[in-house]
Amino acid sequence: MFPEIERVLIDQATIAARVHELGERIAADLLADVARTGRDQIVLVPILTGSIVFVADLIRQMPIKLSLGVVAVSSYPGQSIQSKGAALRGEIPRDLRGKHVLIVDDILDSGRTLGLIRGLVAEQSPASIRVAVLLRKSLTGPRAVEVHADYAGFDIPDEFVVGYGLDFDGYFRNYPQVAVLRREVS
Ligand code: 5GP
Ligand code: MG
Repeated sequence: MFPEIERVLIDQATIAARVHELGERIAADLLADVARTGRDQIVLVPILTGSIVFVADLIRQMPIKLSLGVVAVSSYPGQSIQSKGAALRGEIPRDLRGKHVLIVDDILDSGRTLGLIRGLVAEQSPASIRVAVLLRKSLTGPRAVEVHADYAGFDIPDEFVVGYGLDFDGYFRNYPQVAVLRREVS
């Protein structure tokens, strides 16, 4: 069904086990924040579109009261590393003051996407900000924007991956594992 897939990097069972672990840990940390601050509102801010599969699985492993406020970002490809970028599409949730915010994305690569959203969230004086990503790319040099991921499911090599929400040209998001495409496709 997916002849373009060359090999699976992280299989379904491994992802499920790790997401379960992350969900429990993040929920416990957020509850500790609530107890510490007396602020009890928890908002997850998933970055569309890549994080949809991850966040759908993650929230079902978090048995706590939370709400979702999605945000859409488009990455624009540049000729050079410097000219690449991330731009907000539409609105960012505007009611984050005093709340515990967990930003969720599929992958931390250059850091531009998460850097942008983290900055916009921080401006609203939330009670706390955390960042969770399914994947974190191991780069040889520094990231264009240094962003700390409080939670990362897997550290992966600097390869282009698809599946579990991640796309190539809009496709493969529904492939249930993290995989690498045949070279002639990507
Ligand atoms: P950033 O470079 O801003 O950290 O990541 C930007 C966005 O590029 C990510 O949210 C993700 O959508 C996309 N991206 C980065 N690396 C990959 C990858 O290996 N595969 C896919 N499909 N998307 C990626
Ligand atoms: Mg994305």
